Amino acid sequence: MSEVLALTRDLIARASVTPDDAGCQALLSDRLARAGFQCRQIDFGEVKNLWATHGQGGDVLCFLGHTDVVPPGPREAWHSDPFEPTVRDGFLYGRGAADMKSSVAAFVLALEQFVAAHPDHPGTLALLLTSDEEGDAIDGVRRVAEHFRATGQRIDFCVTGEPSSKELLGDLLRVGRRGTLSGKLTVRGIQGHVAYPEKARNPIHQALPALAELTARTWDEGYPEFPASSLQVSNIHAGTGANNVIPGHCEVAFNFRYNPGWRAEALEREVHAVLDRHGLEYDLRWHRGGEPFLTADGRLRAAVRAVLQEHFGAAPEENTGGGTSDARFIAPLGAEVVELGPVNASIHKVNERIALDELERLPALYRAIAERLLLA
Ligand SMILES: [Zn+2]
Repeated sequence: MSEVLALTRDLIARASVTPDDAGCQALLSDRLARAGFQCRQIDFGEVKNLWATHGQGGDVLCFLGHTDVVPPGPREAWHSDPFEPTVRDGFLYGRGAADMKSSVAAFVLALEQFVAAHPDHPGTLALLLTSDEEGDAIDGVRRVAEHFRATGQRIDFCVTGEPSSKELLGDLLRVGRRGTLSGKLTVRGIQGHVAYPEKARNPIHQALPALAELTARTWDEGYPEFPASSLQVSNIHAGTGANNVIPGHCEVAFNFRYNPGWRAEALEREVHAVLDRHGLEYDLRWHRGGEPFLTADGRLRAAVRAVLQEHFGAAPEENTGGGTSDARFIAPLGAEVVELGPVNASIHKVNERIALDELERLPALYRAIAERLLLA
């Protein structure tokens, strides 16, 4: 069995459902310490964060990942136990096989190989792992980034191993992320009998025209390398269940995915303006999930593009689609950030998997990126 397969299996066998690390980081930290890395836990609450470095000063290249996984869902829905890594028909199955214990194992092998080949390399090679990416993502990289800001720890280049690829490993490189902003709206009406609408105020009727305006709006036409910003209503709830009662309130949850043409604050202002114009009585609670970022076409993107060209004979598509990741906390430190990892077709699903031939190629990819950036 290859080293990267063995290590990925060891990680999958540790049932690290977010935010439980289940011993993954201790295993990796032991290995990296033996390879000469300085390993430090920067834990907050029950969340484990491993910061491992080799070398000093110069450019700081950080590989970023997470050891936690999403819950597997019902065991019966899986062909094999989600925490018993299983090889079948050229694939490795298990929770975290694609998101992202394979990338984490590949990072560790790439780092070991890199320092064995270049023990006195210039610059700083680092690995940052958290056990809180899939959950609340509060005590993970968000807090570590605050700590880095306070202590002056710089990061110049960051490669996260999130599963970015679409159909084949390396076909897509994420070079930024949209922002995410959630709102929880409660429209207040006056409860009453449907036969006496003049004595009540129907919050559903009041909310609908405002929601129609918000959802029909073209927020922008897109931004270089980003799709157009969008507002989606995800939940609406109102009513007592009886059909003769006008409800007293109506709850609406919605989410924006937006490009760098906007900041959360500006979107919030726009929404309040519409609700006020419609004369609604309401409460609105916001959760700012992360501002958008875009890594300009500089040294990191050029290096990764060249490595992919060299290994796969084709340059990747470079875009900013998909959900959010911890990269959003590292980018504001001034780092160039990209996401490059396995095919994402099975992530968060039952029978999560990675193709063995792609798993075998990952360590060399990450190692080549480190060599281009630190040895150039
Ligand atoms: Zn992930």
